[in-house]
Amino acid sequence: MTENMQTMLEYQKLDIALRKMNVEYNNHPDKKRLDAARSKFNEVQANLNAGSAESETLAAEIERVYAEFKTTLKTLETLEKEFAAAENDEEKAKFLPRLESLKSRLDSCRNKIASRIDRIKRISAEAVKSLDTRKTVREEFDKTKKKLEEYKDQVKPEREKIEGQMKALGEKIDKDLLERYAKARSEGVAVPIYVAVAGDENSYACGVCGMVLSQTSKSELKSKGICQCETCRRLVYLR
Ligand SMILES: [Zn+2]
Repeated sequence: MTENMQTMLEYQKLDIALRKMNVEYNNHPDKKRLDAARSKFNEVQANLNAGSAESETLAAEIERVYAEFKTTLKTLETLEKEFAAAENDEEKAKFLPRLESLKSRLDSCRNKIASRIDRIKRISAEAVKSLDTRKTVREEFDKTKKKLEEYKDQVKPEREKIEGQMKALGEKIDKDLLERYAKARSEGVAVPIYVAVAGDENSYACGVCGMVLSQTSKSELKSKGICQCETCRRLVYLR
């Protein structure tokens, strides 16, 4: 193994430690609690927004129906005066269908307005409950966030130490080795990415998954010192 590879392996060890810290953070009960509180908060907020938008639509509809109500009422009043002034029953009878139709239109306006007011009342009652829930969730969120920040602060020195060491090592490692590592890592190859070859020269195998290397990989390993395992895609190096 080259000195370069040794440094690369040290780098890999630190990277794995850092990754472990990330996993620990993501699996932290407070992190899960925080995520849950955040999505609950968003859900309650979305309900509030939807209720508010619906109320606005209903209010606009009430305004429109009320205007129609007023116009209809005016027409009805005029017609009733004409009806009262009619000279005989025959004349009066002519007014009846229109009077009936105007009255039923007024009823329909009243019903429309009443049903919209009912709906607004129900939305308001729901909103009062939602605001209460939002407050509780917000408090839970803030409290959990604070606890999580404390945890972060607690592991920060260790994290920074590892990051500093990685940076220093990264400057020493051959660029090609480091790039292959970064590429494999970004492609989702499982750690450890660099693994020592297993077996002897006649039956070289991947040091982690144990699969025997192909002829092509074997010759690459011999000529370049590194090859990629065709099964698990890890980078296999000569011991
Ligand atoms: Zn493998």
